[in-house]
Amino acid sequence: MQQYFLNQKLEEKIYFDPLQSHHIKNVMRMKKGSVIKAVDPDEHSALYTIDYEDHQVIGKLKEMLPEEKSAIEIILLMALIKKDKWDFCIQKACECSAYTILPFVSERCVVQLDEKKEKKLIRWQKIASEACEQSKQNHLCEIKEPVFFSKALQVDADLKLIAYENADLQAHNLAAVLNNAQNVKRVAVMIGPEGGFSDHEIESALKSGFTCVSLGKSILRAETAAISALSMLKYHYEILGEVYGSNK
Ligand code: SAH
Repeated sequence: MQQYFLNQKLEEKIYFDPLQSHHIKNVMRMKKGSVIKAVDPDEHSALYTIDYEDHQVIGKLKEMLPEEKSAIEIILLMALIKKDKWDFCIQKACECSAYTILPFVSERCVVQLDEKKEKKLIRWQKIASEACEQSKQNHLCEIKEPVFFSKALQVDADLKLIAYENADLQAHNLAAVLNNAQNVKRVAVMIGPEGGFSDHEIESALKSGFTCVSLGKSILRAETAAISALSMLKYHYEILGEVYGSNK
């Protein structure tokens, strides 16, 4: 079933924006009576039946859906990487339930902040929105404006992790770190660019309260590291959390 994020609250009758209307009418070719899921800005969701009113696509409320709040917010602090990999990374990170993505530029980033960042941000948010709709999540992952590394270190989270390929798997074990951290509601995980982090950056992160973690013995590409880290956090908080109760 298709999902759409609305700009309005859920009401008996809803209107879709022009892009969504085009998608419903011309791409999906939905007939009157087709059912879709709509999510409002407060993350309330409901099923709607599609109808056409003077060529305008509308939705008629069919059934409210239960609340779906995530127990954990995972913030992905992601170094800017080359365009196609970046787009792929946003899409997959959203599928893996990243709550927010904060792009940053560090010493070894090839991609730099530029003038066109507003246009880029709109494009990135569109990729995120489509990925969250496609993966049927009520939370729309927000892509923040890119910042410099030092600013990204100031993220507000209960647990702050930095994935470091030179970290020893035993000494910097992610499972141990997650098991030892109690009452975590917001966790941030930082992934470096293609060239990795400098020693100096790792030191600054540690001073800012980050914990170094290994993602395993093999060196992963930045985008793989992001997806891998998010999957591991998802496993811990969502899958194990479901079995053993909150956070474990
Ligand atoms: N240039 C480095 C690799 C950088 S990989 C080299 O070739 O040695 C890009 C980013 O992915 C790293 O900064 C780190 O955040 C993450 N990463 C990749 N593999 C990792 C691993 N095994 N453990 C932890 N982080 C990893």
